[in-house]
Amino acid sequence: MLHLDAVSKKFGGLPALDRVGFSVPRGQVTALIGPNGAGKSTLINCVTGVLAPTSGSIRFADQQLVGQPSHAIARLGIARTFQNLKLFPRLSVLDNVLTGLTCEAGRSLTMAMLRLPYLRHRERRLKLRALEALDRFELADKARLPVAVLAYGDKKRVELARACVSEPQLVLLDEPVAGLNVDETAAVGEQLKRLRAAGQTLLLVEHDMELVMEIADQVVVLDSGRCIARGTPDEVRSNPLVLEAYLGR
Ligand code: ADP
Ligand code: MG
Repeated sequence: MLHLDAVSKKFGGLPALDRVGFSVPRGQVTALIGPNGAGKSTLINCVTGVLAPTSGSIRFADQQLVGQPSHAIARLGIARTFQNLKLFPRLSVLDNVLTGLTCEAGRSLTMAMLRLPYLRHRERRLKLRALEALDRFELADKARLPVAVLAYGDKKRVELARACVSEPQLVLLDEPVAGLNVDETAAVGEQLKRLRAAGQTLLLVEHDMELVMEIADQVVVLDSGRCIARGTPDEVRSNPLVLEAYLGR
């Protein structure tokens, strides 16, 4: 579904990604792991058009993503979460999740303000979908609350719900359980397993190795911007290069 070929990204001459290449197969969970600073978030930012790679190719189905703005990439059916939450704190949980449907809401705000009957009908449909997503991520009882008052774990789930509400073809998750306690981690883990069972294609950046081993079909390991290993969770776990990257040189 997604093919990266020799993707490089330099920040002021320093390489954050160095000719990274791998594929994300449709309907599978691909985990992207590696020590801090390995380039995982940079890679997600390159795929979603937040950053432009210095060189290389990123293809999604038959589309070249490099050079496309992030809103165009989102419209192709690629959604993401951010490692550092990017929510609208003063908007309600429901409205935050509704922003995940802006591609479909289309039209201008002016049109929405005209409140034409057919637009109201569409607005209702979008709201129903957002409420359904809140339900799936166990946030239904918090729909009307401003995001600012939520606990950190709930905010992480709002990000997940917003990414998934449009039923995107590909979802990129940047450390969805980072900072969560054991119970919250287990809850998000269950939700990720449900997404996987429903056939959702995922690229999952995660440090929680237990979760990665449980959920991933394929693991890609980055270290200092280079792809140092790729394989099934078991293959990667016993790879000496991976052990070295994690245990230090
Ligand atoms: P990871 O997500 O694997 O922890 P990052 O992709 O965040 O790693 O960072 C990879 C490297 O790129 C790090 O050395 C980081 O300092 C650097 N980096 C990331 N974003 C920027 C940026 N916007 N400007 C300069 N350097 C950056
Ligand atoms: Mg990161």
